[in-house]
Order: sequence, then structure tokens, then C-alpha cells
Amino acid sequence: MTSFPAAARRVRDDALTPRNRLLALRECALNFAPYGFRATWHHLVVNARIPHRLEDDLDSLHRAVDELEEARAVWRGRAADFAERRRREKAAGRRVPSRADQWLGNGVHLRCPDFEQHPSDRLIMVVRRVIAAHESGVNPATACLACASALKGANKRCPDCGVLPENAAPRLLARWTAVEAAERWNRTWRRETSR
Ligand SMILES: [Zn+2]
Repeated sequence: MTSFPAAARRVRDDALTPRNRLLALRECALNFAPYGFRATWHHLVVNARIPHRLEDDLDSLHRAVDELEEARAVWRGRAADFAERRRREKAAGRRVPSRADQWLGNGVHLRCPDFEQHPSDRLIMVVRRVIAAHESGVNPATACLACASALKGANKRCPDCGVLPENAAPRLLARWTAVEAAERWNRTWRRETSR
């Protein structure tokens, strides 16, 4: 996989075909996907208003990559702080990172089993909220890390934003059959989504 910065440059390169720029955006979202690839992609299509005919609004590709890039920058800044602090802690003999640090060291991975159900705020806001929730010790079994809503059960999606609690069973909790999910994904990929 190409690096995020290289793919982001291709998204912004108007010498490339719109289709290739869209594929470069896809590489960016494969590289950094706070909600998993499909839900992150759906979010970008909706929030940046990427049209079915890309030529109708090529700026939408800029809006999408800008949104992804700024959220990734916040994440990387936090990860760099974490790595630096861990170096100091290890030097001082503290081998096991705290729970928040374990999570933060692994990346932003919010699970959205229905890829059309995810927070609608700008990604940077959600990434900041999740980092803050972890750092302040919010219990991920009772409160949604992405939007702070009270959760209704360990294996239930957040009623407000669709994110699954971190410790939920790793089975698919989507409302759709596999066929319907494939159809919905095809519509999203063709940017015919109505939301
Ligand atoms: Zn939520």
C-alpha cells in the first residue's frame, strides 16, 4: 500500500483522471479509517458530498482528503507523544502501558457494523473526543467513546451514533442480510447514497 501522504498528493493532482484521484482517496481511507474502511468511506462520501459523476464537483475530493488528513494529523500527534512518553517510562522501569495507552498505541478503531451508521461530526472532532475519553478514563462499557451517549448494553450499538462498544462481541450486529449489505455498499461506492 502507498503511504498516506503519497496517496493524498494524488487525490489533489488535477493532472490525473477523476477516477484515479478517487482511487487514491480510497487508498487514503484504507490507510486511515477511524470507523473501519466502509463506514469511513461512507462518511467521506456523505460529508464531502462526492457526486456520482466526479466531474460535477472535483472539489469534493479535496474536501474529503482534507477531512481525513486533519483527523490523521491529530491522531499521529497523539501517537508521537505516546511513543515518546513510553520511551521515558520504559527507561524508568515501567514496562506495561496503562489501559488508555494500550488503546492509543493501537490506533483509532471504532467499530460501525452498519457502515451507514457512524458519527456525522467531522472526523477530527470524533478523534479528539475518543482520545479525550480514553485519557479521562471513561468506561467504554457504559458510555460511547465517540459521542458520550449512555450505552444500552454491552453488545448494542450506540443509539445515537452507531458505534459498537469496544468490548462488544466481535460478531456482525448489522441489520442487513449479506445480499442487502452488498447492494448498499455498491450504492455507496457509486455515490448514489441518499443520506
Ligand atoms: Zn455514540
